[in-house]
Amino acid sequence: MENLRELAVLPRVPAPVVLGTYPTPVLRLDALSRPGCELWVKRDDLTNPEYGGNKVRKLEHVLAYAKARGAKRLVTLGAAGSHHVLATTIYGRAAGFSVEGVLVPQPRTAHVVEDLRANLAQGLVAFPAQSWAMVPLILLRRLGRDAYFVTAGGSTLEGAMGYVDAARELAAQVRAGTMPEPDLAVVTLGSGGTVAGLAAGFELEGLKTKVVAVCIAEPPWVIEWMALRLARRCLRSLGRSTAGVRDRIVFERRYRGAGYGHATPWGARATAIAARESLALDDTYTAKAFAAALDLVAARRAKTILYWHTLSSAPMEPLLRGAPREADLDLHLRRLLR
Ligand SMILES: *Cc1c(COP(=O)(O)O)cnc(C)c1O
Repeated sequence: MENLRELAVLPRVPAPVVLGTYPTPVLRLDALSRPGCELWVKRDDLTNPEYGGNKVRKLEHVLAYAKARGAKRLVTLGAAGSHHVLATTIYGRAAGFSVEGVLVPQPRTAHVVEDLRANLAQGLVAFPAQSWAMVPLILLRRLGRDAYFVTAGGSTLEGAMGYVDAARELAAQVRAGTMPEPDLAVVTLGSGGTVAGLAAGFELEGLKTKVVAVCIAEPPWVIEWMALRLARRCLRSLGRSTAGVRDRIVFERRYRGAGYGHATPWGARATAIAARESLALDDTYTAKAFAAALDLVAARRAKTILYWHTLSSAPMEPLLRGAPREADLDLHLRRLLR
């Protein structure tokens, strides 16, 4: 039944709109490796020079589907400084859609303020919701025949397929001898699409690599359930068995701290260490995952550990051209930054 439903959802697979530059590089971090334990990084910060990170890969398929369905508007949601909403605004607008985003509060950091301002400069039509409880009603009002709804984080089946592609890209890099086959791939678990796609893709390629999913959102058991379900849906839609996927993912809850968007001491330490390797991290996502990767190396938990870097490293100035100053933001938008 599930299989049939999946097929019904995917009548024809439209070719992805190519947004990124692939393959993204893999590099060994020599200064952070230990005898018998190498730390590598997959540079998905470089997926696109205008705005990179993991959302670019997801949007390749999401935008293709929206187009195939004849949508004119993209309707999505996220936190005030959501990278997903920003990437959807930039690439959705470039593909000719208007982009509407329902935004919910997020702890105020300089990074979050920049993302929100960039979103507005890039043409997002923002609908501030002062709590998650208000989101469904606002969304319902925005949906309609010409709208394509993109779930939080872009973690639809189509979005996750972008990370199935990414896993296959890594498998090709391993086969080409660019890096040894990783035992562990450490990545942030936010809305689940990245983890799900990687786990399904590693399964598909028959790699030994397990995904260490570093949970940064609440409640962890819901997010983990969603990621696992999405990984199974990816495999089913590819006509593959889902039997092995549960053992592919190691869920790691210990790095969340006070919750989504809250900085942690271990994240701050990881950020300082990464800066010496010219990797910029953010408090919400990547600092927590990199902290977990460093601890796995310190404990020499595996021979080859790959930290999958998901944050854009593109300069923000061009995206902030013409952006409103924080003080000039609409009161309802300013109230999202708490
Ligand atoms: C969105 C995001 C993630 C989480 O990816 P999901 O697919 O939502 O789990 C991780 N890192 C960064 C920098 C992100 O923007």
